[in-house]
Amino acid sequence: MPVTEETAMNGNSGKIEDPRLGEPFLLTPGPLTTSYAVKQAMLKDWGSWDGDFRAMTRKMRDMLLDLLGEERSAYDCVPIQGSGSYCVEAMLGSFVPRDGKVLVLANGAYGLRAAQTMDYLGRAHHLLDKGDYLPPRGEEVSAILAADPAITHVLIIHCETSSGILNPVEELADAAHAAGRKVLIDSMSAFGAVELDAAKVNYTAMVSSANKCIEGVPGFGFVIAKTEELEAAKGNCHSLSLDLHAQWATMEKTGQWRFTPPTHVVAAFIEALETHKAEGGVAGRGARYEKNRDVMISGMRALGFETLLADRWLSPIIVTFFCPADPKFDFSAFYEGLKSRGFIIYPGKLTVVDSFRIGCIGRMDETIMTRVVEAAREVLAEMGVTSAAPPRAALEERKKLAA
Ligand SMILES: *Cc1c(COP(=O)(O)O)cnc(C)c1O
Repeated sequence: MPVTEETAMNGNSGKIEDPRLGEPFLLTPGPLTTSYAVKQAMLKDWGSWDGDFRAMTRKMRDMLLDLLGEERSAYDCVPIQGSGSYCVEAMLGSFVPRDGKVLVLANGAYGLRAAQTMDYLGRAHHLLDKGDYLPPRGEEVSAILAADPAITHVLIIHCETSSGILNPVEELADAAHAAGRKVLIDSMSAFGAVELDAAKVNYTAMVSSANKCIEGVPGFGFVIAKTEELEAAKGNCHSLSLDLHAQWATMEKTGQWRFTPPTHVVAAFIEALETHKAEGGVAGRGARYEKNRDVMISGMRALGFETLLADRWLSPIIVTFFCPADPKFDFSAFYEGLKSRGFIIYPGKLTVVDSFRIGCIGRMDETIMTRVVEAAREVLAEMGVTSAAPPRAALEERKKLAA
């Protein structure tokens, strides 16, 4: 059944009909549930060379830079085709010189993927691997940088989407800057909903993509970098198509993307940016997601579920829950039961204990989150699970965070 205005949340009215009448809500880290207006914006074809599309590209770059506030003038925005990982690779390949070295701060899949990217690039890196979810801390960064003068850049994952942890970006960036190193940030799943104030964090470049907190559809990402660093990045990149300096220089000169742009995705993204602005920008978007998270977590906790992370580390992006210890609990039945009620959740990524994740981002509000909890209650009852409490091993695991 097609999505109609009644089945996709439109604007901020919060008017949402029974999701079972339309597409399921995606409680995932992206691609996520988008508004009807965003989908509708794609019902037109644009010529990539035409002035209308060039103006759209300019507008989109300006709207993204507007999110930076006062620091805007020192930065520029370079969109690049592909999914988020392409943009991370473009950022690493374009800003890290061939003889540079990156300290990669990992506590989950995306940090590890960045380290793997460095291997592919054949450029040096030092991996600090904190495991499934423990946050890297400022003192650790200081110690590693003091011991290895070859390190030129520190890569920070803002929200590590594999556990949902919000890493202490400011503390980590401060440690890097105190040691005279440059900061690169993967803010893929946080940008647009969690503040990243360039006046406080002072990064060289950060990366995000169309299909996360701005609520567009997938197809490209963007790097926001200091203009002076973009100028200096000439000749660094290993790849023609991922060269951010070349993409930026061409865009500045001609207003065009170097190679076929995802025209429909850009049109949808501009619509998404307008909605983001109308919702109150980063603060407004962040507030809705926080409400989504709080309503969902308190409902799930009332059912007996427990979160992997202590409240202090929980992001408003996605939340990891332990699977219940009750032997009657079966994740695939739980997943299918929720799907049949209109909600698609995400499996967990922890290596030690079973878990699943529920996303708080996308075109959803607290009324939807209340229904998610209600659906979870129904499915547990159907399975005959009386308590959603996790096994002891899960709680032991969690104690590591407090240590
Ligand atoms: C989504 C995401 C990416 C990019 O993943 P793709 O599948 O390539 O879009 C990178 N880093 C983080 C933290 C993410 O959440």
